[in-house]
Amino acid sequence: MSDLSKLRNIGIMAHIDAGKTTVTERVLFYTGRTYKIGETHDGTAVMDYMEDEQSRGITITSAATKCSWDNYDMNLIDTPGHVDFTAEVERALRVLDGAVAVFDASEGVQAQSETVWRQGQKYNVPCLCFINKMDKIGADFEMSIKSIKEKLDANPVTMQIPIGAENNFDGVIDLMEMKAYYYTPTKVGADVEVKDIPEHLKEAADQWRHNMVESIAECDEGLMEKYLMEEEISNDELKKVVRVETVNCRMHPVYFGSALKDKGVRKLLDGVIEYLPSPLETPAITGLNPKDEEETYRVECDPKKPLVALAFKITHDKHGDLYFVRVYQGTLKSGTRVMNSTRDKRENITRIFEMHADDRKIRDEVRAGDIFACVGLKETLTGDTLCDTNAPILLDTINFPEPVISMS
Ligand code: GDP
Repeated sequence: MSDLSKLRNIGIMAHIDAGKTTVTERVLFYTGRTYKIGETHDGTAVMDYMEDEQSRGITITSAATKCSWDNYDMNLIDTPGHVDFTAEVERALRVLDGAVAVFDASEGVQAQSETVWRQGQKYNVPCLCFINKMDKIGADFEMSIKSIKEKLDANPVTMQIPIGAENNFDGVIDLMEMKAYYYTPTKVGADVEVKDIPEHLKEAADQWRHNMVESIAECDEGLMEKYLMEEEISNDELKKVVRVETVNCRMHPVYFGSALKDKGVRKLLDGVIEYLPSPLETPAITGLNPKDEEETYRVECDPKKPLVALAFKITHDKHGDLYFVRVYQGTLKSGTRVMNSTRDKRENITRIFEMHADDRKIRDEVRAGDIFACVGLKETLTGDTLCDTNAPILLDTINFPEPVISMS
């Protein structure tokens, strides 16, 4: 990985049953790392690889997998969805640069989705909303958007409208492109056809586009002026504002789909690339001197500076303990000695892996911004900072950074 602007560290957040596992599986399918198609509750979902999860059919622990979409790399961090496992969720949230919040279109925001959402907000995680299950009886996209606005106090901006609902949910209209995307499920992933907006939805699409442009213009003085003067506003101008507002957690672009029926997930992935931040756009975390916590440093996403990394997850498999780590600053090389500044211990990193849903690839080094798994650590626990033995820095994982105010 050389171009960090083309990396997305994202998670899929949802309360149990909203469809997080199904969405994750579709994402992994389309990002090319797996071709298994499985119903989630028969235990074959690819990320649910721990026995406990397989037997219960819910995702209770996090792992990370690398995949790619449209020449971008993505680390997909599996955030657990069960409300009883909040500490686990929070640990995973800390390492995300952005997330997709999944909702059930027939329920809108439920009590549990509120909990998950608030956790994301606590860590200033920029968020897209995916209103899933548009094929389900009772699916209601307007009710879902309204509940996101009212119950979550969020700023949902509808980037699409669904074509039909329940059994007649066929696809989505992209309100930037003003084109209709129709999906036809096949055994190996849905076929997509891009067409003109059907006659009966033209008026609705125009109205929703108008709403979208107005909501975006409200966030930017320059655009508002143009909007009021009825001047032409280009899609590029609109997208730029959506990106800035989303990265700053002030806007939540909304997408629709049915992961089960294989509809809408690819447009959602386009949204992830377009609007969620790269590690370079994520606000700098504070580092502390472990001997004097009053002394602070700005930890920067720069591979040339001394190493600062966070161990956020440990899993156990037949090869032993596997540590999931996010590098915030510097470069970590395999076969090196690091310092665990949380415990004041020296540790060895013997091997580094890039994890995929179903295999792992050995890496020589990992640079700032990336997420990887490694073996060799003995005394490290989740939440510990790993750093250069000559430059002890402790990550401030309690006071998480505020979102950036403006982006270039
Ligand atoms: P999780 O608990 O959030 O991981 O949810 P799952 O992905 O396991 O899905 C919960 C249930 O909802 C399962 O029975 C899925 O088959 C079903 N489901 C998931 N996505 C959809 C969808 O788009 N439409 C419908 N109708 N059902 C879905």
